[in-house]
Amino acid sequence: MSTNLHVLASDEYEGRETGKKGQKMAADYIASQFKAAGIPAYKNNSYYQEFFLSAIIPKKAEVYIYKKKYKDGKDYYTYPDQSEQRIATDSIQFLGYGIQDPEVYDDYKNVNVKNRVVMIMTGEPYSTDSISLITGTRTKSLWATYTKLKIEKARESGIRALLIVVDDVAKDIADNKHRLESSALKLELSNEDMFVIYISKEMANDVLKNSTLKDLKQKISSTQKPFEIKVKTNFVINVKNGVEKVGSENVLGYIEGTDLKEELIVVTAHYDHLGKDGNVIFNGADDDGSGTVAVIELAKAFAKAKKEGLGTRRSLLFMTVAGEEKGLLGSAYYVKNPVYPLKNTVCDLNIDMIGRVDANHENNPNYIYLIGSDKLSSTLHTINENANKTYSHLELDYTYNDEKDKNRFYYRSDHYNFAKNGIPVIFYFNGVHADYHKETDEVEKINFDKMEKITRLIFFTAWELSNRNERIKVDSNKK
Ligand SMILES: [Zn+2]
Repeated sequence: MSTNLHVLASDEYEGRETGKKGQKMAADYIASQFKAAGIPAYKNNSYYQEFFLSAIIPKKAEVYIYKKKYKDGKDYYTYPDQSEQRIATDSIQFLGYGIQDPEVYDDYKNVNVKNRVVMIMTGEPYSTDSISLITGTRTKSLWATYTKLKIEKARESGIRALLIVVDDVAKDIADNKHRLESSALKLELSNEDMFVIYISKEMANDVLKNSTLKDLKQKISSTQKPFEIKVKTNFVINVKNGVEKVGSENVLGYIEGTDLKEELIVVTAHYDHLGKDGNVIFNGADDDGSGTVAVIELAKAFAKAKKEGLGTRRSLLFMTVAGEEKGLLGSAYYVKNPVYPLKNTVCDLNIDMIGRVDANHENNPNYIYLIGSDKLSSTLHTINENANKTYSHLELDYTYNDEKDKNRFYYRSDHYNFAKNGIPVIFYFNGVHADYHKETDEVEKINFDKMEKITRLIFFTAWELSNRNERIKVDSNKK
């Protein structure tokens, strides 16, 4: 695994951004590894499942309030999520902090926001909130997660456009420069989706006119309750981004089973990462070079077993996918265009980051977070637990399997596209760390012993799943 990871996470692969040169090189490399393991190409002499994406090339959005034109990059910013958008409204709803604590109440539920333009603030009003209570800390990444959660809730409620008032537009832009300047990639273009725009306090005050953010903040902290105000305004957003077609590919290694070969066990990891920003290369050794090389290693082990007369009864698909960092796109494409029928797909074991240790386990690398294992099939959960008890003896940590966990990791990697289709999944994950999504996620920091132990656990789990008499049953439907 070390040799492969040193290759894939080297500067030469330019951070493996979907659709770019480095991703194509990585696809070639993975295919060559499948070939060397004696795994035949699955179709048309190719290991690739190709797909096309629309790249949205960011241009400046135009925003007017009472015909006054504001300045993109100074007064506001937007991510290039949609190709075209025009929204004009004469009224905006102000909803305080949006959601403070989704378990206590959810502001969007009590007001009618469908198809409306809504303004909220970042952060939360009280000195203690559920996030700080759970973790004891309030890190930047948790703040970002909290904002994401607000956006998700807003989207679910059918809001047309969401204006988020931020503390410091310039700082946000500096912190998110790479993402703001990169093209967003989409499987399908849709401009129906909620539009999000981040605005300065000054701009917010212009919208509010008769009251100011300061007054409103005071009102929220004195009443301790969310409230709604409707503001008459004349607000126009105009967006017209460029669109280009980009080709990408998933890389598939298929090993046919014996008497139960119609049934398929899928093992996935994403091999794409964030690419580069000028001279700064995001090598993504842990995310998800670690999962990618684990998939290659597992494919080799099962291919070797088959060669030695120990082929599995069910078939196995080792699939490294692209487009994960752009929104789980490669796996989304696969489940819409499965090479083997989804109804015959028994489960997906997804590996995304298994080579590092997080802050909660500093002195104990022998752990792994498991997410999803009991959500659709109690048998899957038990099989993995038994494999661990018998062979691996790792500490299995289910912290992030809790549906109340604010990080919502269950929804954030490729297994979710399988789970959405009723296919049981396990997500193997070491948790985030200081180098997560940074250029410092380098191969030198990888703990290969830990990676090997987890890969063995996945091997024994996949072995049992592919050889047992009964296909595992879907017997629950948890979130
Ligand atoms: Zn990842």
